Amino acid sequence: MAVPANRLLRFFTSGSPEEPKAAGPAPLQPPSGPPRTAIDRANERLIGEISEFLVSSRLAVTSRNLLIAHAAFSGEDPQLGREIGQRRLAGEAITQEWLNEQAATEDQEGTIRSLIAQLEDSLDRFTKTARKARTNTANCNAALAEHVDRAKDTPDSLSLADVLGLANAILDHSRKLEADIHASEKESRNLRERLVRAQRDAEIDHLTGLPNRRAFEAVYERHYREAKADIDQLCVAFCDIDHFKRVNDTHGHETGDRVIQAVAETLNRLSNTQCHVSRHGGEEFVLMFRGMNKTEVRDKLDAVRENFAERRFVNRDTDEPIGQITFSGGVADVFAYPNPREALRAADQALYAAKEQGRNAVLAAP
Ligand code: GH3
Ligand code: MG
Ligand code: MG
Repeated sequence: MAVPANRLLRFFTSGSPEEPKAAGPAPLQPPSGPPRTAIDRANERLIGEISEFLVSSRLAVTSRNLLIAHAAFSGEDPQLGREIGQRRLAGEAITQEWLNEQAATEDQEGTIRSLIAQLEDSLDRFTKTARKARTNTANCNAALAEHVDRAKDTPDSLSLADVLGLANAILDHSRKLEADIHASEKESRNLRERLVRAQRDAEIDHLTGLPNRRAFEAVYERHYREAKADIDQLCVAFCDIDHFKRVNDTHGHETGDRVIQAVAETLNRLSNTQCHVSRHGGEEFVLMFRGMNKTEVRDKLDAVRENFAERRFVNRDTDEPIGQITFSGGVADVFAYPNPREALRAADQALYAAKEQGRNAVLAAP
């Protein structure tokens, strides 16, 4: 059961006047007797940071959130710690969705790292098998050469039993070798398939089936380099569903999910070799266009926006009308900015300007 984070904070600090101590577990006290050690201080700091993080972000105290926060603040997951730090510095809220997304990415990256480690182990075992096979083959060859030499000098001394024994040993050895190699190949094929699947999964957003932000970043970097070298045009755009929170609040999260899927499907129709569409997170999408200028991209996206705004949605669980769903967009010409990040920021600012002007619009950055 989720416990409000502020209760946890009180539990770890001094309690509160409106909640008498007898009503709940006694607040934690530093151990009496021996002086506080560095471990006590580190524990207090970590618990303080976890509590402060959950309370200030208004996150429920679930075992999952505690584990995520522990990983971020204990240094177990420095990448997550940095992501949280950067987000807080930028003054952006840390929502449950954002945290889930980060944790899912971390889980996927953990799976990929573990599969790569298993593949490396498998390669190690294969190398050892091959080395052993080489030594055994060399030993067999030496024994065989010795028999042949002896037979050349004294042909009568060659016993059929010796030759048969040796031939059998060589046969056994090569059969075992074949089986070992076969098992190694099967194991590494299996691991490689799992790795390919995990890498593909890590780049797909499961709600919409679109590539996710991580996949976008790789494609964006590649197109940036290519377009720069070819002196080709490159634009980025953000689209964000308008007043989406209302859909969730009025019709529930599952209906909200279906609205996200509908927008994803519509935007994905633009997808081709010149246009890459991804879910950036939440109800926000990021698009990249090659070979078009910002006005052409704006016009194209605006036509999609206009079409979409004509549709009327119904909550299929309750048959209640949801009505019109709109989205806003912002477009930027990538090479008008010093680097790809600045271009994304400009597209985001253009989106913000579209929201400010009343939403249901697509604007190009100035
Ligand atoms: P604006 O027009 O300014 O964009 O307002 P908004 O309500 O769309 O924007 P806001 O950022 O306030 O709310 C976005 C909401 O989207 C908050 C969050 O709970 C919800 N959300 C994020 N990801 C998902 C998701 O995967 N499914 C659902 N159903 N809701 C989500
Ligand atoms: Mg929105
Ligand atoms: Mg948004």
